[in-house]
Amino acid sequence: MDYQRSKAQFEEDRIDELLELIWMLREEGDATIDNVKKRSEDPQAGHIINVIEASGLISSDHGKISFSEKGEKRAERIIRRHRLAERLLFEVFEIEEKQIEDPACELEHTHVLSEVVVDSICTFLGHPPTCPHRKVIPRGECCRKFSLEMKPLVVPLTELQVGEDARIVFISSKYHARLDRLSSLGIIPGSIVRLHQKQPTYVVKTGETELALDRELAKEICVKKIMPE
Ligand SMILES: [Zn+2]
Ligand SMILES: [Zn+2]
Repeated sequence: MDYQRSKAQFEEDRIDELLELIWMLREEGDATIDNVKKRSEDPQAGHIINVIEASGLISSDHGKISFSEKGEKRAERIIRRHRLAERLLFEVFEIEEKQIEDPACELEHTHVLSEVVVDSICTFLGHPPTCPHRKVIPRGECCRKFSLEMKPLVVPLTELQVGEDARIVFISSKYHARLDRLSSLGIIPGSIVRLHQKQPTYVVKTGETELALDRELAKEICVKKIMPE
């Protein structure tokens, strides 16, 4: 192993970790140097911050941090990769949200995922808007193309016509009790539903089960239409 290279990579990883933390603190409305030092697990966070600032990724004003354009792009990529990886674990491997750490340090090795792979995961998951912790996933090239060039393949259940079949791609509900109830009824990613009625309430059929859903809930179920042969 090339020592110099792995040392440089190590430093890049520490920079990535802090950029990710700064992004999260900004979401919480408080991206300051003090908060980075407080929240970071890196004992040399203060030093790394200086490195990041010197390399023009961030600037600070009275301790308040802002990203440069370059820094914003880099942090956005890290966050996107990370949150999509979480979504993948959650949807595909059915790993529970509680077990997916936030910030998911376990996922730090996701930096091996190239942009192309990240976009494939995003497309595969139907360009999900949030991670399992309900944090926003920054949009990628694939999402932009998807919304500009095509009619969305993945739509809320409420967009279906009566009689249409669709496969559930993901459910964006923030209520666990709801998700649990839905999954006990077979409303989970991958299952096929048919919309039976829209008024006065949504009714879907999956297998032999008929199920009434209010509009709010129906909107949270994102599906991909199954085109008739
Ligand atoms: Zn998350
Ligand atoms: Zn996408």
